[in-house]
Amino acid sequence: MNCQDVEIHIHGFLDRELELGATLEVESHLETCTSCRMKFQELSAMRTAMQDAMSYHRAPDSLRALLQKPPYSVREQNRKQHKSLFAPWRMLASVSAVAVLFLAVGIGLQLQEEAPLDRLSEEVVASHVRSLLAAHLTDVASSDRHTVKPWFEGKLDFSPPVVDLSGQGFPLIGGRLDYLNARAVTALIYRRRQHVINVFIWPKDADEPQVEYNVTRKGYNVISFKSGEMNYWVVSDLNKKELAELGNLLHAP
Ligand SMILES: [Zn+2]
Repeated sequence: MNCQDVEIHIHGFLDRELELGATLEVESHLETCTSCRMKFQELSAMRTAMQDAMSYHRAPDSLRALLQKPPYSVREQNRKQHKSLFAPWRMLASVSAVAVLFLAVGIGLQLQEEAPLDRLSEEVVASHVRSLLAAHLTDVASSDRHTVKPWFEGKLDFSPPVVDLSGQGFPLIGGRLDYLNARAVTALIYRRRQHVINVFIWPKDADEPQVEYNVTRKGYNVISFKSGEMNYWVVSDLNKKELAELGNLLHAP
């Protein structure tokens, strides 16, 4: 193999895609040819940098696929045409791919700021589903708030507001202790027609901003808001409109 052959095969060599014979030939050429060895080391270092950037700061899959596409498809073309793999424009393409990756890292970090609410909403949905599956919907089954509210006394470090909304079409079914956001919380269970609704309540932190949040996750609608001193998370397979109606009723009882 001469220098030109090595240039053609170097990417396959880096990807460990070459057959044994070709691999050995590239290796023995790199041992003897300083110029090819330096090019190989540069290319290999650039690869490592790109891989590191990708593994430490995972951009969304769709974005990563988009970023990976141009340089790789160019490379495929290049292999077929047996052109120099070290052409300046190729290096430029690689460098700009790295630049775009760093940009993606920035976007990724911005997206991460949303993550705590997303994580919590996942917890909320999981808790809702668990309460339906485990036949453990209520610890205290009662439509009377004067039965439900006192039941929580001594079980929590706060006194949850319990309102009866049967007059507004959301009958109370009961209450349950649950565990969310790394703390014990109140779960109040309401019903709308055949739909079960879990309302999770716990005190908000003093410095917590008044963020409202809603999302649909795994087919469940989730809304979150703060009212008075409390955090509310409302989750159900009930449609968004009626769930928001319940949210408003809880917001201003
Ligand atoms: Zn060489």
